[in-house]
Amino acid sequence: MLPKRFFSPSLIILFTLLIAIQVVPVAIAEPANDEEEERYDRLREQMVNRQIVARGVDNRPTINAMRSVPRHKFVRSGERRRAYLDNPLPIGHGQTISQPYIVAYMTQLINPEPGMKVLEIGTGSGYQAAVLAEITDQVFTIEIVEELGEWGKQNLRHAGYDKVQVKRADGYYGWEEYAPFDAIVVTAAADHIPPPLVDQLRDGGRMVIPVGSPFRTQNLMLVEKRGEDIRTRNLMPVRFVPFTREEE
Ligand code: SAH
Repeated sequence: MLPKRFFSPSLIILFTLLIAIQVVPVAIAEPANDEEEERYDRLREQMVNRQIVARGVDNRPTINAMRSVPRHKFVRSGERRRAYLDNPLPIGHGQTISQPYIVAYMTQLINPEPGMKVLEIGTGSGYQAAVLAEITDQVFTIEIVEELGEWGKQNLRHAGYDKVQVKRADGYYGWEEYAPFDAIVVTAAADHIPPPLVDQLRDGGRMVIPVGSPFRTQNLMLVEKRGEDIRTRNLMPVRFVPFTREEE
């Protein structure tokens, strides 16, 4: 049997207080979150105006998508306050989420439109995939690092991009099952353009890919497929993390 004083009035008051302490923060947490979200909305608006529109990105769907996707939900929790800065951010495993301007620039290059089916290589945080999913109908994305693939998928789900399909694989081989793609966006620097990706591009399709040596300045290239004719153009110097390969 429990001693009688276990049920003393002071203990009952203590328990009531403890319960109240548990409940109150939940009740006041909501407005704080709303305020935080509003702050992120303002930072995102500034990001779009100062980093993207001011630098010449003028494709409407791209600008709208950059306005909509909550970038702070695609960075590590410790980096959230830096989510809208004008630079890439570390996402673990030696990888980075690209600078907002680069994401917008690459998105604009594929002339994104509703109805398109797009493949991305290098899911990472899932942010570029979310931007593509804001505009197009079908987005497929491949990540070589298991943990990043899982994290990117989670970020996409939490932010409401349920339709994006994520797979863990070496993106060099593309995603045969869903080919051909209207556009392919590669977000890691390869030393050459992977032929399987060119094969999986629809006739008239576009691919944007950084090409060059790892850890040096690479060239952002636009690849256009016109039947047998593959046209490539160098657009600008960039720095991306390396395109790695699965060991044979
Ligand atoms: N698009 C990402 C950028 C991530 S950085 C974002 O918006 O956050 C590039 C990513 O490409 C890294 O996560 C890296 O692991 C991945 N990657 C590198 N080589 C790859 C390959 N062969 N196949 C698929 N993913 C690859």
